[in-house]
Amino acid sequence: MEVGEVYSRQQLDEAEGEQIEALKARSQQPIPDPDQWLEGELKRNILLTSVDAILDWARRSSMWPVVCFPACCAFEFITTAASRFDISRFGMEIIRASPRQADLMITAGTLTWKMAPQVKRIYDQMAEPKWVIAMGACAISGGIFRSSYSVVPGYNRIIPVDVYVPGCPPRPEALLYGIRMLHRKIAKMSIAAKGE
Ligand code: SF4
Repeated sequence: MEVGEVYSRQQLDEAEGEQIEALKARSQQPIPDPDQWLEGELKRNILLTSVDAILDWARRSSMWPVVCFPACCAFEFITTAASRFDISRFGMEIIRASPRQADLMITAGTLTWKMAPQVKRIYDQMAEPKWVIAMGACAISGGIFRSSYSVVPGYNRIIPVDVYVPGCPPRPEALLYGIRMLHRKIAKMSIAAKGE
């Protein structure tokens, strides 16, 4: 040890060696990733799905029907929309007076040839993609008025129909079943198949 030194060089080397050995002893295993909790968090909060599935889910969960109630089936539709049956559970409670804000036509009533151009115009002005439920015997085939010169023998003569709900009139349960059938149909749509 030289004059003026508190510790000799050998003591300093030994102290440094001890520190290094202590560090080596503490460092035998890798330190766990501090962000590991993120993995569990992501698993709990991220739902992987396809674009088709999410689009179809959004479409069928928010269909807005346009006003098209030319005859007595309309009352069953109104009952379906009221609180006991309540179509708001499907996001459908907003009955649109403007076809531009609607994507579903529920044809609740007899259609005459005189009214047919107006109904077709309403359908043509609806937003794409759009769907039609033919509600009741008159909507499907003209019903008991089929042989009349003035009655359209089914809405499918002027617009494409997706789901047919038979009855004269169909009860609200039947219309709800028809709506569920349409939901199933929409769930199978694909943007790849139709470019929508
Ligand atoms: S199906 Fe029956 S209830 Fe419905 S519009 Fe025709 S006649 Fe009226």
